[in-house]
Amino acid sequence: MRAIDVPTYNAQEVYQTCINSISDEGLRDRLNLVTASIMASANDYTQKAMTKQLFQIPPVDSDNDDIVVGAVTKKELKSVYSQHMVGRGKPARQIYDDILDLAPLGKCPLCGVGVATTLDHYLPKSKFPTVSVLPVNLVPSCKDCNTGKSADIATTAEEQGLHPYFDHDYFITDQWLFAEVIQTNPVCIRFYVEPPREWDNVSQERVGSHFKDYNLASRFSLEVTNELAILKDTLSKYMSMLGKEAVKQHLHIVATSHQGLHQNSWQTALYQAVSSSEWFCDGGYAQI
Ligand SMILES: [Zn+2]
Repeated sequence: MRAIDVPTYNAQEVYQTCINSISDEGLRDRLNLVTASIMASANDYTQKAMTKQLFQIPPVDSDNDDIVVGAVTKKELKSVYSQHMVGRGKPARQIYDDILDLAPLGKCPLCGVGVATTLDHYLPKSKFPTVSVLPVNLVPSCKDCNTGKSADIATTAEEQGLHPYFDHDYFITDQWLFAEVIQTNPVCIRFYVEPPREWDNVSQERVGSHFKDYNLASRFSLEVTNELAILKDTLSKYMSMLGKEAVKQHLHIVATSHQGLHQNSWQTALYQAVSSSEWFCDGGYAQI
């Protein structure tokens, strides 16, 4: 997970920009009338996000055509986002694009693997329609993270995946993602989560939830397959020219370089694992 500074948009201005582009006057009026409720939801969200209590916001379990606030249905609130923020040519589309641009180096902050091409609702709009255009609920994301994550709503503090705008500090600076080499042919790299023991229990569980919800173990494994194919040739050359110690040194240097960039990237975990495996450095790298 990569941290992103909290977007500084004024929530009410964003909501207003979205609904101003609605041509149906009756719908626009009804949406204007619920502005205070939408802002109350926005304030509640921000306060709970800052105290890592977003799971306490109750989901809306009604149907699309049911009224969820004032005289506005769930479907109408969802379409404020899908038609008037995502819609190309709409004034609020600029805000959508600007939030997308917050992705660090264009990468998805949730997995660190995919390219951020879409916005993910941290609290899904189908269950939390009143925050469907709230900027701090919109996270730049790759398609895999947006569509492939677990559909379950967090009902406890421990089940909450990491939030790139609000979960900074030790989630970023401490290492919790690791990998190990399984001595098989082909070689297998197993990723796992092991947060520092001094963390509180909720934080320890949350990184596990994040890892599971975004299916990171298997997605990282796919990346590793490509990486090892390239590595095999490089390491064979180091081995034949300089021997096993050179193989180890090379892998160790790459590990520290990745660690300098991100403590919890799949590359940091991978290179730490392979550089500390005697079996891998002694020729196991060829088992792919
Ligand atoms: Zn992603």
